[in-house]
Amino acid sequence: MKITVLGAGPAGLYFALLMKKQSPAHAITLLERDGPNDTFGWGIVFSQRTVEVLKDSDPDTCAEITRRAETWDDVAVVHRGERITVGGNRFYGIARIALLNILHRRCLDHGVEIRFLTNVADLSELGPSDLLVGADGANSLVRRTYADFFLPLVDLRQNKYIWLGTEQPFDGLTMGFRQADAGLFITHSYRFSPTMSTFIVECPPETWLEAGLDRMSGEETCAYLAGVFKAELQGRSLRSNNFVKWLNFPLVKNKRWHHRNVVLLGDALHTAHFSIGSGTKLALEDALALAGCFAEHRTVEAALPAFERVRKPVVDEFQQAATESLTWLENVGEHLGLDPVPFAYRLMTRSKRVGYNRLKQKDPAFIARYDRWRQEHPSTGAIPEEFLDLFQKRTFAHLATQMADGTPHVTSVWVDYDGKHVLINSAKGRLKDRNMEQRPHVALEITDPDDPNRYLAVRGAVAEITEEGADEHLDKLARRYLGRDQYPPGWKLPGEVRRIYKIAPERVTPWAPFR
Ligand SMILES: Cc1cc2nc3c(=O)[nH]c(=O)nc-3n(C[C@H](O)[C@H](O)[C@H](O)COP(=O)(O)OP(=O)(O)OC[C@H]3O[C@@H](n4cnc5c(N)ncnc54)[C@H](O)[C@@H]3O)c2cc1C
Repeated sequence: MKITVLGAGPAGLYFALLMKKQSPAHAITLLERDGPNDTFGWGIVFSQRTVEVLKDSDPDTCAEITRRAETWDDVAVVHRGERITVGGNRFYGIARIALLNILHRRCLDHGVEIRFLTNVADLSELGPSDLLVGADGANSLVRRTYADFFLPLVDLRQNKYIWLGTEQPFDGLTMGFRQADAGLFITHSYRFSPTMSTFIVECPPETWLEAGLDRMSGEETCAYLAGVFKAELQGRSLRSNNFVKWLNFPLVKNKRWHHRNVVLLGDALHTAHFSIGSGTKLALEDALALAGCFAEHRTVEAALPAFERVRKPVVDEFQQAATESLTWLENVGEHLGLDPVPFAYRLMTRSKRVGYNRLKQKDPAFIARYDRWRQEHPSTGAIPEEFLDLFQKRTFAHLATQMADGTPHVTSVWVDYDGKHVLINSAKGRLKDRNMEQRPHVALEITDPDDPNRYLAVRGAVAEITEEGADEHLDKLARRYLGRDQYPPGWKLPGEVRRIYKIAPERVTPWAPFR
């Protein structure tokens, strides 16, 4: 097969390597606009799980990566100047350029042709090939060229971020939250070589403008941020390379993954926010999955649909977790009032992939501290603290009310919580409205949309029904459930009167045995 890969990042390189290992007869050419020693960014992290996957697929590459990597077990959270560590999180940090150089060498050793310093401006410049792989990153030319077929969705997120480096050797993956005069700054930092650490800073756009970062040079930016994070950096400076640019994170998705003999891979296909450090992992695993589909199905016509079939559910799940994480960070203001220990707990569980039980396994001492804090600060509401996230995501509740003849009625509803009552928003005159008005005892099952094995069962009484503020409350729900600023006016019936139903929980059963 003649294979052309656009982009020699982790996705393109690893795919080329695995295909060449599969069949040395493949003629594989990688086209890369940068030179072999150019890169953006600094270091990246991999989890233990990713390293195991790499070990199974290409042990030599994996051995090289682990030899060059720094390892640690802690995540550290710095909030209000206090550093809380959570153990049991084995990570590997490696310079992005070191990873690329390892993959370059492996590809060249196996006979892959890499054409560096080759910027492709138009796909018509490429000769014919049996397979064209668009591994050309988040701003992919391949994706843009075939946008009518891939139907991409690129959502530029609100926070500004910049990828810097420092000689401060961080122990563990450290996330710092600093309230400066201009506003909130967040940092994600980790050591990736004996002498260097990555230092990513993100901040809301208001902070960025207030600090005047839109007008600062690269040096001024580094000096300003080094001042904000003086304690974390222990007075050390920040450094930039050719990525000294503030960006908005582009959340990339594609409705379709392939078109004729063209397929997208890695960031060109999907991005995952850097706060869960999984973009490179996903890029490498895409390469592995696509190469696996060729091993099994042989032809382009069969392999590309198989790739989408096996890989999409995995990627969707990761993107969901990454989106939870970035949304949490965009709205972190809601949590900053918490003490450092519960703040660290919320942070660790923000992507919804890890819950109380998993954290307890990883670091019993941290959970003991969290439990002590909970005992000292008993929850004032009926809903347990570790289930409050259900009211931050697109959780549908099943609301059971009682009909006049005693039979049950169940309906799906959006759900909210005000710290005391579970809130439902509906319209006057509907069946559930009449039922709740006349027979105010209800039951709700509130199931985690990401995990049906995790839910809250609530029984209680409708303590109040009010029309006051109901339209504004519906708009608030629309922001969460629809991602829109306002509930679409066209969805309301003419003359519809909205109501809020305040349900006082009498019995609450939390259920999450497997997390
Ligand atoms: C701030 C930040 C921190 C991150 N930290 C982590 C982390 O800790 N762990 C992790 O796993 N991931 C991390 N990532 C994500 C990671 O960098 C990407 O997900 C990963 O690089 C994707 O690999 P890729 O091969 O798909 O694309 P890329 O690495 O972007 O590679 C694409 C390649 O294509 C080339 N190219 C593009 N267009 C053309 C063209 N027209 N002609 C020729 N060549 C072209 C580019 O030069 C580039 O080399 C981070 C990302 C950011 C922004």
